[in-house]
Amino acid sequence: MRKPLPLAERLQRVSASQTQEVILAVEALRREGVDVIDLGAGEPDFPTPAHIRAAAVEAIEAGHTKYTAGPGILALREAIARHYTSGYGVPFDPAEIVVTSGGKQALFNVAVALFGPGDEVITHTPGWPSIVEQIHLAGADAVLVRTSYEEGFDVRADAILEAVTPRTRGIVLNSPGNPTGAVISETELAELCRAIAGRDIRIILDLCYEQLIHDRASHNLPAVLNDNAPGQGVLVGSASKSYAMTGWRCGWILAPAVVASGCNAVQSHSTSHATSITQHAVLAALTGPQDCVDEMREEYRSRRDGLLSWMERDKRFDVSRPAGAFYVFPNVSRLLSLDGPRTSADLALALLNEAHVAVTPGEAFDAPGFLRISYAASMDQLREAWARIQRFLA
Ligand code: PMP
Repeated sequence: MRKPLPLAERLQRVSASQTQEVILAVEALRREGVDVIDLGAGEPDFPTPAHIRAAAVEAIEAGHTKYTAGPGILALREAIARHYTSGYGVPFDPAEIVVTSGGKQALFNVAVALFGPGDEVITHTPGWPSIVEQIHLAGADAVLVRTSYEEGFDVRADAILEAVTPRTRGIVLNSPGNPTGAVISETELAELCRAIAGRDIRIILDLCYEQLIHDRASHNLPAVLNDNAPGQGVLVGSASKSYAMTGWRCGWILAPAVVASGCNAVQSHSTSHATSITQHAVLAALTGPQDCVDEMREEYRSRRDGLLSWMERDKRFDVSRPAGAFYVFPNVSRLLSLDGPRTSADLALALLNEAHVAVTPGEAFDAPGFLRISYAASMDQLREAWARIQRFLA
């Protein structure tokens, strides 16, 4: 038999998404009629707010169904600029903005536009796996700096700086972080920026969960970046989590105009631009009433507090308090043993098949021994899921 033809060499360094595997397993069980509570998903359980949906319908009816400018319609780029300027006090111009098909594509465009073979790009782990795989797809080497459970998964400037070499071209930071929910401190970022200011190193901030911060901590990372390493920062944002718009696919890049134009060049030869209808919907999201964001955030916060209060009573779960996003990330090593589930992946599989609760094993985020539990599910579902987990563990 003929040997299968090879795939491109770059794919040898890329692994498939393990979070997708959880989604497939849940779907398979549900097809068999099993009632699964899904706490594996990385997306809001809320519907997209009504005024945003209405804006999309209007856009279709008004004929906004054709190609748009590559970096996005001007009105949306202006709205993004205003949104960031009013939120962070940093000036932005529409020429510094590229609208993309999601935060994921924004980060991909940035990686391909800025990094290549021979370059090193530092990021922190446990972290969202696509960041590393995109660095690999760009042909560069990812350098991982581990944050620890004991330190609340804080990203520390000195740890990042220790990993810098003459080949370092970029540092990708995610705050609030997936899967840890940890928020990067302004002081640490300032220290990091001062140390790399003027060097050929860029700092990319993935702010996709920026509107989901539950504890009152100042999180003006864009201003810190702008003040301490001007011209070296790239911001990535998204409508997905803030406005419950994951399926619409819309994110954005804010970067110095030359970088934005490079990112747009990558996009112009791949997806062209984000969907025209989505762009109009996101324009309504950013310029319309923001109480929907506040209401969702409030609800996430009370779910987080509920889940933490139950978990803290069970000594087998070691959990740090996540300041943002919608995940708790407990250390479950005490539940692992030679004759029970040996790994967190085994435990997640057993919870799915026997307790019918889907969670994501830490292995998916380079953190064996942990589980990522999403609280993007109703309080009733969370309560029932916790009861099922307790019954399973009894
Ligand atoms: N960054 C992080 C840390 C994420 O968790 C996600 C989504 N899981 C994204 C970026 C991208 O989301 P989207 O493409 O839907 O904007």
